[in-house]
Amino acid sequence: MTSESDKKMPVPDAPLGFAHHDHTACVSDTLAAAEARCAQDGLRFTPVRRKVLEILLQEHRALGAYAILDRLREDGFGSQPPVAYRALDFLVLNGLAHKIERLNAFIACTHPGQTHAPAFMICRMCDAVAETHSAPGRSALGDAARATGFRIERTVVEAEGVCPSCALKADA
Ligand SMILES: [Zn+2]
Ligand SMILES: [Zn+2]
Ligand SMILES: [Zn+2]
Repeated sequence: MTSESDKKMPVPDAPLGFAHHDHTACVSDTLAAAEARCAQDGLRFTPVRRKVLEILLQEHRALGAYAILDRLREDGFGSQPPVAYRALDFLVLNGLAHKIERLNAFIACTHPGQTHAPAFMICRMCDAVAETHSAPGRSALGDAARATGFRIERTVVEAEGVCPSCALKADA
């Protein structure tokens, strides 16, 4: 059992989620960004929507709807599945959270202010998920789409593998 400081292995340009970072600031900054975004776009950031985003932000790990529902219930937000599903729909629709198809689970977006095509790296050992950007327009897929006249509206990029901390443990 080594403490966090014993194994400071800086990962160069690691995406948020896998990199060591000030997580308290990460949670409050992301919530503030989501609030600003909703105010700007006239979206209602209701207490339950805010709570679901907060739950998703606690760990950089994808959570299924039922795990979210359990935490909502613990926090006194009722236990009707539609409550969680409607809040998740709102968050995903407005780019504040993303659905990880591979895990049928959800993760908070780490930069909710921007429109972006996310790509995910999923650790198969601990289910940690890191978000990064994909550039579908500039990829081989984008070239193929242009060549055939196909208009891409949405791409899902989910890479499965081993995160830096699980790789460290495995090598130890
Ligand atoms: Zn964080
Ligand atoms: Zn995102
Ligand atoms: Zn891992």
